[in-house]
Amino acid sequence: MGVKVVERHGNTFKEKLYLPAIFSGMRSTLKHFTKNLSDASNIPTICYPEEKPTDITPRYRGVHRLTHRKEDDSIACVACFMCATACPANCIEIVATPREDGIDEKMPAIFNIDLLECVFCGYCVEACPCDAIRMDSGIYSVIGELREDFIYNKAKLLSIKGISKEEYSLGK
Ligand code: SF4
Ligand code: SF4
Repeated sequence: MGVKVVERHGNTFKEKLYLPAIFSGMRSTLKHFTKNLSDASNIPTICYPEEKPTDITPRYRGVHRLTHRKEDDSIACVACFMCATACPANCIEIVATPREDGIDEKMPAIFNIDLLECVFCGYCVEACPCDAIRMDSGIYSVIGELREDFIYNKAKLLSIKGISKEEYSLGK
């Protein structure tokens, strides 16, 4: 087996001094500092949460929502448990109940998502055969003081609206 000798760097007098490299780094830092000082629009970071991101794409996975049927605005979920089965974090809790209005066989009596355990993988959305759960809410930050604040129940998930592509681009 052949041995490849790799040349060591940093052996010259200039490199051993370290000062040229230090000054080069400082020059680069100073250049960007003065550039940003003269024109703040150059800075790629934003002052979140006062400023909202404006480059969220429609594929961004935000907080979940449960969708409504177009026909009668009732819940689209049929409590098939596909999303809960697909969920790798096991953070979806569903309790099914018979649907009395004849529209479908079942609906969820309880539908909870624990957002502290959710890893926002989107598998639940992929698994749903009814397009009943989506992550197109455009909500990218969830705030709460108690653990319960992060468990979104059926009413909460149904109340969240989806946002259009135009709204995504506005970062609402
Ligand atoms: S996004 Fe992933 S982890 Fe979160 S509820 Fe859906 S399947 Fe579970
Ligand atoms: S959200 Fe979709 S996958 Fe989950 S229980 Fe309802 S219908 Fe089934």
